[in-house]
Amino acid sequence: MKNLVKNFIIAVIIFLVITGIFSTLNLSAKKVETIDLQKFVEQINAGDIQKIAIAGDKLNITKVDGTLESLRKETNETLGELFKNYNVDPEKVENIGIEVTEESGWSYWLGALLPFLLPLIVVVALIYYMMRQVQGANSKAMMFGQSGAREAPKNSKNRVTFKDVAGVKEAKEELLEVVEFLKNSKKFVQLGAKIPKGVLLMGSPGTGKTLLAKAVAGEANVPFFSISGSEFVEMFVGVGAARVRDLFQKAKKSAPCIIFIDELDAVGRQRGTGLGGSHDEREQTLNQILVEMDGFEANSGVIILAATNRPDVLDPALLRPGRFDRRVILDEPDMNDRESILKIHAKGKPVAADVNLRRIAERTPGFSGADLANLLNEAAILSARRNKTQVGMDEIRESVEKVMLGPERKSHILSEKERNITAYHEAAHSLVAHELPHADPVHKVSIISRGRAAGYTLKLPIEDKHLHSRSEFIDDLAVMLAGHTVEKEIFGEVTTGASSDLRHATRLARRLITEFGMSEKLGARTFGEKEEMIFLGKEIHEQRDYSEKIAETIDQEISRLIAEAAKTALEIVRKKKDKLEEIVKILLEKETIEKEAFEKIFK
Ligand code: ADP
Ligand code: MG
Ligand code: ZN
Repeated sequence: MKNLVKNFIIAVIIFLVITGIFSTLNLSAKKVETIDLQKFVEQINAGDIQKIAIAGDKLNITKVDGTLESLRKETNETLGELFKNYNVDPEKVENIGIEVTEESGWSYWLGALLPFLLPLIVVVALIYYMMRQVQGANSKAMMFGQSGAREAPKNSKNRVTFKDVAGVKEAKEELLEVVEFLKNSKKFVQLGAKIPKGVLLMGSPGTGKTLLAKAVAGEANVPFFSISGSEFVEMFVGVGAARVRDLFQKAKKSAPCIIFIDELDAVGRQRGTGLGGSHDEREQTLNQILVEMDGFEANSGVIILAATNRPDVLDPALLRPGRFDRRVILDEPDMNDRESILKIHAKGKPVAADVNLRRIAERTPGFSGADLANLLNEAAILSARRNKTQVGMDEIRESVEKVMLGPERKSHILSEKERNITAYHEAAHSLVAHELPHADPVHKVSIISRGRAAGYTLKLPIEDKHLHSRSEFIDDLAVMLAGHTVEKEIFGEVTTGASSDLRHATRLARRLITEFGMSEKLGARTFGEKEEMIFLGKEIHEQRDYSEKIAETIDQEISRLIAEAAKTALEIVRKKKDKLEEIVKILLEKETIEKEAFEKIFK
């Protein structure tokens, strides 16, 4: 809109300038006086005229004194006839230079029409210009059907390659094959091999799916069309399908190349579930993807990569052979992977000599690649805010906690009584965690608010765990309930501070029984079928596949597990009251206890 106004003003100014020029031209033209025939004849007879130029019907006269005059004669009458008719003295005429200039037809017409035409042309041009402006906005709407896929050109300078991706070794190996296909497909085609069409990258958020897809394109050095699944879905039905068509058309033209559909689950969800909304649109888009994938020849050199963190909700038709039949799983990074990811992201940053990335990797179980990248970025920001020239170990360590637990809220001042309660609460968590053999060791206890919690106890496993046993869960439950238990024991009543502990404990107890089959009473089976249904943007879970009676038993079992956990916690708190008091004392004094200081208490 702003543009339109600006252009309009410019057009008006141009118009004014042109009309201005014209009027001055006209003014200078007026200096030529138009005379009538009588006067003309008189002037000839008086010998005032030096020269007559005849241009068609127009006579341009130059007088002896230099002034200019003009007049028109009748069209069919020559100058000689005119002189004869008016009885001009032939002798006088002899002294006058008579020159006949050819007036061509078009210049005559131009001269006659231009004064009218020019303003008209300007106005028309102006209207056309404004129309085009409006259309510019419109034509964007008309381009709906185009995919809008971003194309990363090959040979671009800041190409991502496999070197930029740490860990995920198996995934890289699988994808190396894809790179090979793209680079010299002939080798495979000669042997009659069919090159796979689709490769699906699966992994939890932040494990580097998008990064890895880019790296494949970088390694193969082929064009890379990337689009996110959600970009297919627009307000209008049919747009998504049109975009899919457009995307594949573009890709086929520049084969060999890679099409990358990020967040495939946005369009590729199982058909026939879910209600209302953009549902039809999604289905059409998905159908179009299926059709396109079947439509191109196996060895046409186009390979489709797709990424999702919800492979479980994808439509089975997508996973059929001939479509996304290759599946690559990106695991969450283990300790070694974490270290190498940290190394990659520490590269551009000046890191202090005392920084030990191995230690950081040990401290960050469960962190994804994205978390780790974020962690180092936070550390760099923190160091800059402290006016340091290098990123120090302290900053990195603080950032670990920030990423893990949310920012510290030092200004969130607790009253004396609240501080006391929080100290006992956290001390109990840490004490019980320390005492129970299967609970993770305590790394840090603090009564500084973080996120929404008044205090926190940071426990970290010694090594990355992939399997969890029942005894670990039972001990974890006791640790979770320690805060609640101690509040009741020491202060006689509980506060809201324990509510999130209780929620987590209940959830864990339920999973123990219904998902992991770890309840003796209910046996080794699962209860409830998790089903994916999207209704008004909300996922409705759980399909009950058990009777009311079992439901009651599950509830009883949950209560029993939690009661037992509370009992375990209470026993420990009572038995080790002196240690508890010691932890509380230090907490109230120093607010935080680090791992080493914490372990000293028990020596
Ligand atoms: P996803 O698509 O799986 O959700 P991304 O590929 O977008 O995750 O990763 C986000 C960021 O995290 C990347 O840009 C990169 O900086 C970092 N990252 C994730 N995994 C790795 C890895 N394995 N090696 C290096 N960096 C990683
Ligand atoms: Mg991604
Ligand atoms: Zn707690």
